[in-house]
Amino acid sequence: MSTQTSTQTNAEKPQHSETYQVFTNTQGVHNLAVGTGDYKHKKPVFKTKEEEREHQLIHMAAACRYIAKINAIEGSAGHMTIKDPVDPSTIWITPIGVHWSKMKKSDMIHIKEDGSEILEDGNTTHSANIAGLTIHTALHQSRKNVNAAVHFHSIYGKAWSTFGRPLDMINQDVCILYKCHTVYENFGGVVLEKEEGERLAKQLGSNNKAILLQNHGLLTVGESIDEAIYLFGLMERSCQIQLLVEQTQLPKKIISDEEAYYTYYNTSDPEILYAEFQPDYEVLEAEDDSFKN
Ligand SMILES: [Zn+2]
Repeated sequence: MSTQTSTQTNAEKPQHSETYQVFTNTQGVHNLAVGTGDYKHKKPVFKTKEEEREHQLIHMAAACRYIAKINAIEGSAGHMTIKDPVDPSTIWITPIGVHWSKMKKSDMIHIKEDGSEILEDGNTTHSANIAGLTIHTALHQSRKNVNAAVHFHSIYGKAWSTFGRPLDMINQDVCILYKCHTVYENFGGVVLEKEEGERLAKQLGSNNKAILLQNHGLLTVGESIDEAIYLFGLMERSCQIQLLVEQTQLPKKIISDEEAYYTYYNTSDPEILYAEFQPDYEVLEAEDDSFKN
């Protein structure tokens, strides 16, 4: 595995905002760093698809432990998936019955997207959540750049989701979600039907990175599991902040569209969002790296 400087240009510009001024022409971590040292957490470039799979599965297991660490869990509810880099008609999904804080690479279930076959190079001793498979399959199929998806019934996300309102642009960090998160109002109970997954994929659309599922929880996607898990944590904390702010009932200053877009453009591309999770990954690794097994 090696790293190299890369320039992300694939983030879509929000359609509505034609008047903003962009001060840099490219996105990526190079916009955030200055100094003689190399930027440490560049997105890796893999020699083989097998190497990429190994990396994604290890980081997926670490992401599960991160979810436990930030107390974003409610029993067995929630799931994570990655599209298999080797065979994109298959996905890897978290199992039911393993505590999120104990998850390992070898716990991940390798399954055909339509659920028709469990592959033997993954966990064959546990089952996957059928609602998770239904939703995530529709999301992975809906957009080429949805390689990872994360969904949990986290405390603050679930609380804010009650109002059916998107997050206000009230601080720099939440601008990462500027015009790229949405509210899904149609809570239809536990998702078992294929149509519900397709409705969620439609809601995700061509540009969204996150969905607030009303009366339910949060869902984020990414080009990498690192991006999706960072966005999940960010969204959960942003819901917490919005709830804190609302409690004061004082008038809010909302960041202008131009400033919000500028911040979004410079801090919300797949390379930076990958990098944002790496310090947390390294802490998890230093504490207990058994998730790699
Ligand atoms: Zn759910």
